[in-house]
Amino acid sequence: MPLHVWSSAKYAFPLSDGHRFPIEKYIMLRDRVVQEGIVAPEHVHDPEPSSREDLLLVHTTDYVDRFTEGQLSADEIRRIGFPWSPALVERSYRAAGGTLGAANHALANGIAMNLAGGTHHAFPDHGEGFCVFNDVAVAIRVLQRDRRISRAAIIDLDVHQGNGTHAVFAHDTSVFTFSMHGGRNYPFHKVPGRLDIELADRTGDDDFLSLLADALPRVLAESRADLVIYLAGADPLEHDRLGRLALTSHGLARRDALVIDQCREVGMPVAITIAGGYAHPIDESVSAHVTTARIASRFA
Ligand SMILES: [Zn+2]
Repeated sequence: MPLHVWSSAKYAFPLSDGHRFPIEKYIMLRDRVVQEGIVAPEHVHDPEPSSREDLLLVHTTDYVDRFTEGQLSADEIRRIGFPWSPALVERSYRAAGGTLGAANHALANGIAMNLAGGTHHAFPDHGEGFCVFNDVAVAIRVLQRDRRISRAAIIDLDVHQGNGTHAVFAHDTSVFTFSMHGGRNYPFHKVPGRLDIELADRTGDDDFLSLLADALPRVLAESRADLVIYLAGADPLEHDRLGRLALTSHGLARRDALVIDQCREVGMPVAITIAGGYAHPIDESVSAHVTTARIASRFA
């Protein structure tokens, strides 16, 4: 089975030149996985936008409707970090739909990837840190509602803690939330998940990989998950502008292989989202996301 991915031209939206978010990476990534022969063009799926009903399984009506209609306050918009526009609304609905599409495909075929998503700083009633809707939480809630899964695990290896995701599932024992992240990095107020591992600044490959190898068996055993959603953030890389860790691209590739291999070894389907990556120039982050897709393709 070849690797199937979800991606939309609408994942990118206009930002001013000085904006620090690398919006171009979504299109670069989509182009490169096809150019490098990792994904066949016919296996790049355009996601359906999430329905309002699906978003409301996680988010409050007030937040979803005011965001959609451009009614958030200036403070709420500032916290998200993007200027509001209809294109931002379109992207946010599509990116959440892409994670659901990939999760659905993974349930049937073992593995799939959204070339976006992992917007783990989105809380039920607000967004922050470049995250509007919590795509991972929405996908899990939809699949539970539709009785496709009962239990899930989230393996969040973006360098920032998934505070929004942890808040969504704080009292839900059906979803095991695991995060490894920079202890001194954003978000400065961490929300406890089921298993949090805080990393010191400048943590490198060996320490990162040994902590991960120790934790993964516990996550998989205790979660008894029907589906794993993996946030394969590229921001633990040494040269990431927002990272503070010191992983090499080789270490990051070993990380991806370890996670995917262990999940597939015990028969758990894996849906992958790309999460963060803010290297300058952005090519290094894009290359890391491409490598994640290449490794995933070996398990497809
Ligand atoms: Zn991040």
